Formats: sequence, C-alpha cells, structure tokens
Amino acid sequence: MSSKNIFVFLLLLSLIILSCQPAKEPGVTDNKLNVMATIFPLYDFARIIGGNKINVTMLLPPATDAHHYELKPIDIVKVCKSDIFLFTNFEMEPWAYKIIQGSAENTRMLVVETGAGVFLLPLNEEDRKNKNYKFDPHIWLDLDNAQKIVDNIASSFVKKDQRNSDYYLKNAAQYKLKLAALDRRYNSGLAKCRNKTILHAGHWAFAYLAKKYNLEYIAAYNASTESEPLPQNIFSLIEQIKKQKIRYIFYEDLTAPRLAQTLAKETGAGLLKLSNGHDMSKDDIKKGVSFLFLMEENLKNLKKGLLCP
Ligand SMILES: [Zn+2]
Repeated sequence: MSSKNIFVFLLLLSLIILSCQPAKEPGVTDNKLNVMATIFPLYDFARIIGGNKINVTMLLPPATDAHHYELKPIDIVKVCKSDIFLFTNFEMEPWAYKIIQGSAENTRMLVVETGAGVFLLPLNEEDRKNKNYKFDPHIWLDLDNAQKIVDNIASSFVKKDQRNSDYYLKNAAQYKLKLAALDRRYNSGLAKCRNKTILHAGHWAFAYLAKKYNLEYIAAYNASTESEPLPQNIFSLIEQIKKQKIRYIFYEDLTAPRLAQTLAKETGAGLLKLSNGHDMSKDDIKKGVSFLFLMEENLKNLKKGLLCP
C-alpha cells in the first residue's frame, strides 16, 4: 500500500470511528427501525419484511456499478445513523469490513451479512487468482439463497425490535412462499427448452441461475475480467450463436450494451434483457419495480430466448 493509500485508509477509518459512536438514545427511534441496505435485492426484501415498521434506504444510488463502488465518507455517516446495516457478503461489498471495524464501538447498530449460510459457487481457479475473493457474489439469483437472505434479514429485525417480531416473521414467511412459487415456475418453465445455453453479452452474473436450472452459461466477461470483455469469450459467443442457430442474445443495461448490439448486428440474433438485480436504472427505481417483477421478466425472456415450450 502506498503512503497516500495508507493516509486515505486511516482518514476513512477515523471518520468511521468518529461517526459510528453510539447514539445517546439506543434502539428504535420514532418507533421505526432505520435500516440501511447496500443493494437492491436486500433493500427490496427489507421493505417487504419490515413493511410500515421500518424506514429503509438503499446505500448505492441507482445506475451505480456495484462491483466497483468506493465507500464515501458521506456513506459512512449515513450508515452509522441506522439501527441495522444490511450487506450481501465480502465478495459483493469488500468495503463492508471498514464499516464493521469502525462500528465496533457502536453497540446500537447491528451489522448483518445477509448472505451468511447460503449456497456459494466457487470462482474458477484463474478468477480466484485475479480476485481477492473465492466465490461468485451474485447469491440472490439462486432463489433458495434468496429465501435464506430473507430469513437472515427477518432475524435481524426480530433481534432489534422484538415487539414486532410476529409481524416481521409473518411477512418473511409469506414472501418466502412467493419466492418458492417463482422457483417452481422457473423449474417447470425452463425444464424442456430447445436451447440450454444462456449467451450473455454482459458481466459474469447468472452462474447461480444457470446452475440451479441445469443450464449452461457463457458471458462476455469472466468473474475477474471487469474492465474488458475477453476476446475468447466473444469468439465463443459468436461461434455458439452460429453453430446452434441461436436467435437471441441476453444483455444487461449497464455492462457492455454496445457489445450486445454489435453481436446482434454481426450474427442477426435478437436481444433480450436479463436483470441481475443489483444494477438498477433510475427508471426502474422510479417505477418502483420489485425483485419478484424483475425475476418474472427474466423468466419470460429466458423462455423466449431458450425456445422453451
Ligand atoms: Zn454483478
């Protein structure tokens, strides 16, 4: 670490410690829990479980590249005002450890790794060498994992606000039924597709989804190649499109939309959107879309793109 980086790190750490001192009035303020969630799936799960008993805020603004987010001093001030801080895991938000270190004195705020105990997909060997973590962070795209995340969030609400525990647990149970029903629709909807490969002109996000429903997954980017898509991956995408006479390529809004357009033009394939859940557009947030809605849209597009009955 250079001396400049050490200075920035120490400055950030002292800011966290200063702004994360325990509040004078511990516990629930204004009779509502103040919850800060890093990314959209956690934010959406929290607002469903917490209903009218919580105030929930999403830390990362819409249209932000969640994988390259750098924690700002103002974020720390915001986080430290909350009763509960929800993050996914150290793969998705590697900067969460700074908040944990800084909030050690703040016994009021509960820091929750919502992905604790979920099924994890290891990165391949090369990606592991290039990254400082071992697992694919997109855990919520496995709908069983999503249920586990819901449980972890609900438990944290109960811990912090026992008076409303029945309310939180009931909301969580009802929502888990919806996730389970959606999972069944994915299972039946994707069981007999003529095509079994998701060709994705975006970043490495859908490996959990592909694995869960016995599909193959090829993306333009590997898990560790974030700045440029890999030429061999693009070659493989074009080859698959031509060989299997693929009619649709999947794309995402934030990463490489131009690459998707070029591939479509090059091969004559159409484009279908897949939402990864963490790159939300301002428009999506404004429209108030939900995680369930995004996953239903994904299923529709997958069925169309993979030629499923
Ligand atoms: Zn991602």
